[in-house]
Amino acid sequence: MSHIDPGSSGIGPDRFRERLARARDAAEAAGVQALLLGVGPELEWLTGYQAKPLERLTLLVVAADADPAIVVPRLEVAAAEAAPAIGAGHVRVVPWQETDDPMDAVWELLRAEPGARLAVSDTLRASFVLGLQGTFPGAAFELAGGVVGMLRRVKDADEVALLRLAAHAADRAVLGLAAGRLVGRTEADIAAEVRTRLVDEGHDSASFWIVASGPRSASPHHEPDDRVVRAGEPLLLDIGGRRAGYSSDITRTLWITGGDDALGPDATFRTIHELVRAANAAGRDAVRPGVAAQDVDRAARDVIEAAGHGPDFFHRLGHGIGLEGHEDPYLVAGNEAPLLVGDAFSIEPGVYLEGRYGVRIEDIVVCAEDGADVLNEATRELLVVSGV
Ligand code: ZN
Ligand code: ZN
Repeated sequence: MSHIDPGSSGIGPDRFRERLARARDAAEAAGVQALLLGVGPELEWLTGYQAKPLERLTLLVVAADADPAIVVPRLEVAAAEAAPAIGAGHVRVVPWQETDDPMDAVWELLRAEPGARLAVSDTLRASFVLGLQGTFPGAAFELAGGVVGMLRRVKDADEVALLRLAAHAADRAVLGLAAGRLVGRTEADIAAEVRTRLVDEGHDSASFWIVASGPRSASPHHEPDDRVVRAGEPLLLDIGGRRAGYSSDITRTLWITGGDDALGPDATFRTIHELVRAANAAGRDAVRPGVAAQDVDRAARDVIEAAGHGPDFFHRLGHGIGLEGHEDPYLVAGNEAPLLVGDAFSIEPGVYLEGRYGVRIEDIVVCAEDGADVLNEATRELLVVSGV
């Protein structure tokens, strides 16, 4: 059961206490003395602390045989204590002063012997990793993703609820943009509106804002610039933000007429839009627990290949999403890992005709017992808009 309602700001302290206990159990089961987690998604998942990535060390220490503690710069203590799990006392705060060596505090917490196994978060700065290696000579270091990655990959009901709220906010942002003025504006100007709309519709912040007009829509990661959007061409919008830490990510490709029916989509554009829509549907239909991630990619890709556009779909079908915009599981050939109930990921096939235009249709789905739970609700029909 989820306890998230539309006005909620996030996940409560009890859920974090459970996660901390599961992480500690996972460390113990793996024979790891401690998880050493710096600023990043693991810290956020375990404590709710969205810490600033500073040059000063912040390190959550989840030891197999001790209560969790977080080493925090003195000037960040108040921010750390505002996080649900830390404020609730589930994590002990160990502040270090400006003139201290924070590695001394980590040493006091662990006193790891040579041969001990210590698992560091995947994005911990190299300078901190080297500092830890100097503090615990002879310890064996590994990545914490191997210990807690699977715990974080599978989303619980609260996380799915937050992903759904973010998805719906992104849906409204896309549809709002589609209904507004587009012709005669630069991509950069529309991108600024994207950022505003993402926040106005319920995100805490905007994360990315691909606005690709005309031939630019054939470039999957186009950077919006001063090109002016015209009537008689497509506009690809791939946008997302974060709400209570959880990400949205939606793509829709519109056609802009400027109010002149003679400037409607040509037959090729209609054909590839329909093809991508069918591929998106085939991908969603293939989702079910136990199916290999690569088979979902295959199901969507088969549709595009059968129409002769295989070479024009040159990226993976999708990526996991949660506290990170891109995380496990990746829907790509070669990933034989079976989908699990609670996996959240994108389905985003595309067909890109270099120099002409491209189409991508992206939704976020959660793997449920009976198949895909599709979080995005914005129509996947071709939106032909006036844009004036
Ligand atoms: Zn996207
Ligand atoms: Zn995506």
